[in-house]
Amino acid sequence: MPDNKTAIVTGSTSGIGLGIARALAANGYNIMLNGFGDEAEIEAARAGLADECGVGVGYNGADMTRPEEIAGLVEAARTEFGAADIIVNNAGIQHVAPVDEFPIDKWDAIIAVNLSSAFHMIRAALPGMKERRWGRIINLASAHGLVASPFKSAYVSAKHGMLGLTKTVALEAAEFGITCNAICPGYVLTPLVEKQIPETAKLRGISEEDVVRDVMLEAQATKEFGTVEQLGALAVFLCSDDAAQITGTALPVDGGWTAH
Ligand code: NAD
Repeated sequence: MPDNKTAIVTGSTSGIGLGIARALAANGYNIMLNGFGDEAEIEAARAGLADECGVGVGYNGADMTRPEEIAGLVEAARTEFGAADIIVNNAGIQHVAPVDEFPIDKWDAIIAVNLSSAFHMIRAALPGMKERRWGRIINLASAHGLVASPFKSAYVSAKHGMLGLTKTVALEAAEFGITCNAICPGYVLTPLVEKQIPETAKLRGISEEDVVRDVMLEAQATKEFGTVEQLGALAVFLCSDDAAQITGTALPVDGGWTAH
């Protein structure tokens, strides 16, 4: 059990971020939630997590496109819980279009949320981790940090960039008891992905089963989605002392996608 350590999970009002926040809270870490959404729903999730897990759970709505708000998020964790021991850079967005038609504002937004926000989070949190000589940085990259798919130029670029950032920070922080790793999920069944199944089935005139097997999981050898619980369990392990020598890595959780 952690001695009252605190984790900030960006983009934790939904999907993978919420799953990782839940797993960390269940293992005794205080949590600072972040992300967009309905105010009442976020408050219900915050209070529910605190009640269920008996840890401190706060919320800060920093916009991951705004460096000063990101610094404010790290400061809010320090004020509420005394430190930001663990940061999970998870917030992410997507847009799909051919590169020569890719809207410039979408490119800028994806690079800001999916890559630059991790830099700003690390920049703000690292000095405190160095002082305490302990820290864990977990960056949510993707199988798309290791391989590409067409029409996802901004996303693939940001996720490949996330791996470069992970390695660099791992080297700079290694002698301070701080690790920095990237998790590279394949398709994970989050509300975002669930919504796409009937939409794609309608668009292509095929069954929902065919969408899952032949479109979404075409490259995923297990033909199964990953789950937020599996990613949560990996995050908990990366925060443990047993994972102290794991740093600078890109850990695929992709059902064999990138083994091809
Ligand atoms: P999601 O849409 O369910 O959650 C994204 C979260 O990010 C939400 O909480 C949202 O409010 C938050 N967010 C978006 N823009 C923000 C901003 N400007 N400021 C603050 N918060 C913001 O998505 P998800 O599927 O849970 O994805 C989470 C991460 O995992 C992303 O980085 C994504 O690229 C990565 N990932 C997802 C999958 C998948 O199949 N779902 C696969 C590989 C990688």
